[in-house]
Amino acid sequence: HIENPYVLYMDGVSVSFDGFKALNSLSLVIAPGEMRAIIGPNGAGKTTMMDVITGKTKPDSGTILFTDTHQQEYDLTRFDEADVANLGVGRKFQKPSVIESLTVFENLEMSLKGGRGLWAALVHKLTPERAAKLDEILDMIDLSDKRDWMAGSLSHGQKQWLEIGMLLGQEPDLLLIDEPAAGMTDEETMKTAELFKRLAQKHSLVVVEHDMDFIEALDCKVTVLHEGHVLAEGSLATVKANQQVIEVYLGR
Ligand code: ADP
Repeated sequence: HIENPYVLYMDGVSVSFDGFKALNSLSLVIAPGEMRAIIGPNGAGKTTMMDVITGKTKPDSGTILFTDTHQQEYDLTRFDEADVANLGVGRKFQKPSVIESLTVFENLEMSLKGGRGLWAALVHKLTPERAAKLDEILDMIDLSDKRDWMAGSLSHGQKQWLEIGMLLGQEPDLLLIDEPAAGMTDEETMKTAELFKRLAQKHSLVVVEHDMDFIEALDCKVTVLHEGHVLAEGSLATVKANQQVIEVYLGR
């Protein structure tokens, strides 16, 4: 059979708050296995875009479709936040929500799909498959050697990686990540870019970010949002050279 050529398909999506159009006929298509960076000045609609994809905000109009790895297509506008997450759309907010008094391993264990949350993490009853899954995640986020550290003793960057690992525990097909490099050191930022490239081998990723060095290191297609719609799309070099993009950024 022919595979759907997208994991996420948004077309003509609009959202108004008190008459103000936060999204104004936004269209965005993400291919399976694609990593996409979303940039744009404050107020461009980046957060609102993430909110409509994840069911937190209902669009006034437009189409939002998601295709999972089983080629099942869903109209995301018909689901609430918890259901969208269960369908395989994982979202990471900027602020880490790791439990500082549990270890790295316990935090991950708690996040595993089909697990029993905190209880499972405290009694450590793991099947071999789940233990293997946790090892795979630890390896992916490069925290294998810190598995028994208290999450509270990790650096800011390491907490963010742990949080991404916790998201992976939910086995999402599409990951939406909000400003991952914010507050990181340069070294952490570059390590995060490497992590994302590893992630992109198995998942589709949409990354909202301001840090241009980070986006350059991701080396992926970039979408520029402005006033709730797509202003430009292409390589970072292409969009940086776009006259409209230059005006939007310099005009503020
Ligand atoms: P970005 O994330 O790109 O900075 P946002 O999506 O947060 O942009 O916001 C887009 C516009 O919509 C902004 O002008 C913001 O003030 C407005 N907005 C966002 N959420 C709400 C809301 N819940 N109520 C009213 N206005 C909102």
